Amino acid sequence: SDHNPRNTATRGWALHQAAAEVIPGGVNSATRYVGHPYAFGGGDGAYVVDLDGNRYLDYHAAFGAILLGHNSPVVDDPVRAAVGALDLFGLGVTELEVELATRVTEAIPSAEMMIATMSGSEATAQAVRLARAATGRQLLVKFQGGFHGWHDAVARNVISRPELAYGRDPLSAGILDSVLESTLIAEFNDLDSVKALFEQYPDRIAGVIMEPIPHNVGALVPTQEFVDGLRALTADHGALLIFDEVITGFRHALGGYQEVCGVQPDLTTFGKGMANGYPIGGLAGPRSLMERFDGQKGDVLLAGTFNGYALGATAAIATIDHLRSNPDFYTRTHALGARMRSGLEGIVSELDLQATVAGFGGVFSLYFTAGPIKGYRDLMRNDDQAYATFHRRMTDAGFLMIPMSLKRNHISGSHTEEDVDRTLDAARDVLASMKAD
Ligand code: PMP
Repeated sequence: SDHNPRNTATRGWALHQAAAEVIPGGVNSATRYVGHPYAFGGGDGAYVVDLDGNRYLDYHAAFGAILLGHNSPVVDDPVRAAVGALDLFGLGVTELEVELATRVTEAIPSAEMMIATMSGSEATAQAVRLARAATGRQLLVKFQGGFHGWHDAVARNVISRPELAYGRDPLSAGILDSVLESTLIAEFNDLDSVKALFEQYPDRIAGVIMEPIPHNVGALVPTQEFVDGLRALTADHGALLIFDEVITGFRHALGGYQEVCGVQPDLTTFGKGMANGYPIGGLAGPRSLMERFDGQKGDVLLAGTFNGYALGATAAIATIDHLRSNPDFYTRTHALGARMRSGLEGIVSELDLQATVAGFGGVFSLYFTAGPIKGYRDLMRNDDQAYATFHRRMTDAGFLMIPMSLKRNHISGSHTEEDVDRTLDAARDVLASMKAD
């Protein structure tokens, strides 16, 4: 079959023409159109099929929301059984919501209480609000390249190469200057850059929000010194440490990256893979902080008509139960990730390319620049054009990766060793063809 999405005689192309008339930009989320009219009709395990019947091995995995695999019966069967039973009441609580919060607080080291939201953005927005309420301070520190959703407080990046992060800084028009000015930017894996902000703004920083591994720029794995240092620094200054585990949560370990690095953040946010493709987000932390959301005794507003809705809760419970009872999910995805990374490293050195392989667990990235890559600064010299060519040729060969240069790819519970080896063969051919260009 013809995987070439630039062929205009396709159903995908026609659908994009129709979409552009009724949906701004033809897509429902800013980063889904990347110059090629991708249009999928279904998925199964590690594979997706486009409207024209082409099958792709999928490492995009809906930005990581697909954790176990597409249309996994582990999740879909209980969801199907829930349809027609529980819909929505808007009063009180369901048994499912208690089960979900119990699962999450059992799994996540720093979590005593949890609230379900509908998306990762809602969870990070509430975490920032809670940090401000709990400290009585206004300023927020985030890291260059980190992404925490679409809302105003995290819509800054301070980038010197605009094409790297949603095309602009701030990320959106329409945000109050005072909000943008309240967000300070530090450099990942550079504790001094955070210290400098605490010195510059004594007693004014409410919290530090971070992806413990910034997967929104691929995979900058934190040094132990950095995460330990941040924990101590925020505590010393009376600020909260927020781990945004929307990508890392449940993916890298059942307890998230905080379990891996042994650092307990004050607040943790979840989303994406937690319910294997069903919309959900979550915010967790110690009782003392989370009780601020108590509608009776607290002072921070958290509300949402659909929060804790039955299908999302059912899907999340099924996903977490599966991960809990199948710890080999982690050994398998980590081993496949390691196989992919070492395979890619072999190809890079074989072909003598200016490229660096990064990742953690089942996540992998290919940067088109020589290493070592420690922080965001090192990514400034990434060759985005080379990545675009790599991505396009991998798509043509039937391997779907995240199109944006510097993001990451995901190995799900459905990928096999044979899938990884086929991917490496294709990557070798594509990279050799690029070298020959
Ligand atoms: N945090 C991180 C780390 C993310 O990657 C994302 C989504 N890319 C979000 C938060 C926002 O989640 P959502 O898209 O569900 O609002």
